[in-house]
Amino acid sequence: MDHGVDYDRYLDFDYDFVLTGDCGSGLGLDPDFDPILDRDSLLKEIFRRTRITDIAQTHQHLRRRDLVNVAVNEILDLDVTKGVNGKELEECIRQVLEYCVKTNKGTFRNQLYGAVDPNGLAGAWLAEACNTSQYTYEVAPAFTLIELQIIEHVLKKFGISDGDGIFSPGGSASILYAITAARFKAFPQVKTKGMRNLPEMIIFTSEDSHYSVRKAAHWLGFGTDSVRLVRVNEHGQMLTDELEVAIKDELTHGRHPLFVNATAGTTVLGAIDDLERVADVCQKYHVWMHVDACWGGSLILSSQHKHKLQGIQKANSISWNPHKMAGAPLQCSLFLVREKELLHKCNSASAQYLFQADKFYDTSYDTGDKSVQCGRKIDAFKLWTMWKARGDSGLSNLLDQTMKNAQFCMETLATKAGFRLVSPKLQCPNICFWYIPACMRGQQETDKWWETLHKVTADIKELLMVDARLMIAYSPLRQHRNFFRLALTFHPVLRQKDILEMLQNIEECGEIIGSRLTQ
Ligand SMILES: *Cc1c(COP(=O)(O)O)cnc(C)c1O
Repeated sequence: MDHGVDYDRYLDFDYDFVLTGDCGSGLGLDPDFDPILDRDSLLKEIFRRTRITDIAQTHQHLRRRDLVNVAVNEILDLDVTKGVNGKELEECIRQVLEYCVKTNKGTFRNQLYGAVDPNGLAGAWLAEACNTSQYTYEVAPAFTLIELQIIEHVLKKFGISDGDGIFSPGGSASILYAITAARFKAFPQVKTKGMRNLPEMIIFTSEDSHYSVRKAAHWLGFGTDSVRLVRVNEHGQMLTDELEVAIKDELTHGRHPLFVNATAGTTVLGAIDDLERVADVCQKYHVWMHVDACWGGSLILSSQHKHKLQGIQKANSISWNPHKMAGAPLQCSLFLVREKELLHKCNSASAQYLFQADKFYDTSYDTGDKSVQCGRKIDAFKLWTMWKARGDSGLSNLLDQTMKNAQFCMETLATKAGFRLVSPKLQCPNICFWYIPACMRGQQETDKWWETLHKVTADIKELLMVDARLMIAYSPLRQHRNFFRLALTFHPVLRQKDILEMLQNIEECGEIIGSRLTQ
């Protein structure tokens, strides 16, 4: 073959590791539930070595940053200066894969995404192979129709008729779309004149909301000081009375309340704001209502759970990441907007070389000018292959099963010695809790006690990971010291036994860390 690369070699590549989850048949169970990192995996070695200490002794003259490079290069052959032949390339690739975290294992609970939906993966591979861009109908006719079809279907699910939308590179990009649309709607002249002569605009979001709101405020020229963080209740839901007070306060100071970001599924607690009430406040003061449903949007898929998102149909815009809970291959994210023509009016630049008005076909199918991107991956296709294979009911079943497992996990935790829930209210499939080692129980919970538990939590996570048992997230939040966040996703479909095993591992590692405290 050209370039000395024998592509045939990759055809019988062992991709099994990718497909350890539910292999496509509805709620089929994963027969071999392996740990995420093999006990003897060299990945352990990477973590150990990039921790620097041992190589630091032989490379004392190097800076810390260079030491990381030394560590990686000692293990992996990453240098690209000299070309290699096909066989060597294959070896390098195998080596890299060996060092990858196996996110398709059920014990990968480090992020809000999990194993990939195999039907989506098929779509993703085909999309890469087709290597096209979503901007015009002429280069992506079928994919354009697929994007439109999926957007329409998803809008209907969220209760919005005759809206519009676009696939965006992720939730953080979607919030840029949302604030830009809100600003354009309020002050259309911003597109040509910029912000110079506009009133000071304010963005409202809860203190537990995603950090991308603050990033967007910076990127779009508002500045992070223009973001008001509204406090939340003990379950992480925005205090809507305080939202109203905050909006009124800005009005009395002559500022323009532009945008409220409500969250349906906060990143840590999985809290869902009272969307009906937020909608009322937004309508009363004519403020744009966005719902960041990046995580919790998947609840809309099930008639059993969608009531938790009641009010979302009143939003001006919504963002949803099927690449999180639902297992679409990364990245797959939708930005939806209620007003039909707005995205186009707001974002179009009518580039004459790409969006010629005198093309031989109906150019309303050239949807690319709604986007801030030029070239754009055909992310709709992988969601479509998933949805086509499973239908509404298949996705609904997966959501119900995920929530059932989360319920089981929460109920088990509530009665298990040593575990303590941060909030007993299950909103999204997030279970947040502390593990208190036996030697710390029944004591007065002073600041010092909490300081110890804060450190213990991080130590338990480390042990769970280097011992190849479980990759789980932890976080502090507001007044809370570090706690664990176990977030469940559609894939692989877990059994109760798998969940019990995770808790057992946390307990075992917790007691090992605990025993070190008393030494
Ligand atoms: C993950 C997340 C985002 C950001 O989405 P990305 O696709 O990672 O940029 C935004 N909001 C919430 C609530 C999230 O959990």
